[in-house]
Amino acid sequence: MNIILFGPPGAGKGTQAEIISKALNIPTISTGAIIRGAVKEGTPMGLSAKSYMDAGALVPDEVVIGIIKERLAKDDCKEGFILDGFPRTVPQAIALDNMGVQIDVVASLEVTDEAIVERMSGRRVCPACGATFHVVYNPSSTGDKCDVCGVDLLIRDDDKPEVVLNRLATYHKETEPLKDYYSGKGILKSVPGQDKVEETTALMKAALGI
Ligand code: AMP
Repeated sequence: MNIILFGPPGAGKGTQAEIISKALNIPTISTGAIIRGAVKEGTPMGLSAKSYMDAGALVPDEVVIGIIKERLAKDDCKEGFILDGFPRTVPQAIALDNMGVQIDVVASLEVTDEAIVERMSGRRVCPACGATFHVVYNPSSTGDKCDVCGVDLLIRDDDKPEVVLNRLATYHKETEPLKDYYSGKGILKSVPGQDKVEETTALMKAALGI
């Protein structure tokens, strides 16, 4: 099954992707996580992407399209995959179609801007494995360390309030039009985001038919 997890930044796509990925035994591909990895390693792509990311803007289409093309060619994607954070623009969606990739479902997590701003202030991420937590909605069992690898959790630079507002504006302008793109193909399913992770997962699984 080839799935796109769609929705505004901070809607819970990463958290749901981790759960669905385990349930279906298919990989999650997060362009944001790949770009953050490149920034951390200081690769040329990471260095050029950092300024966009820090401003809450999108990295240029050709860069992320290249990342996805390379990642989807790997063997572990043969039985299906979950895309988290891609596509984010209409040209990215068209590029995905042109790669001959057949998407089965686009699950759109619906969360209001007010809820997003509140959620992002509590979000924490593991710098080692990329696992995400929330101080209220999805706390790590130790509070400030990753449950998977035990490393200290961090607040992402782009989760700072002023950057969050930019990211939401970018979402509404550049990414939200994709809903029309995919509803036109008859594969868009709306999933109302809930406060509790497991309640959202139940709605998500229903939308995916799993
Ligand atoms: P995310 O972790 O999905 O919220 O992504 C974090 C940041 O990485 C975004 O704010 C963008 O700067 C960049 N990014 C991730 N995915 C994409 C994409 N598909 N297109 C453009 N920029 C992206």
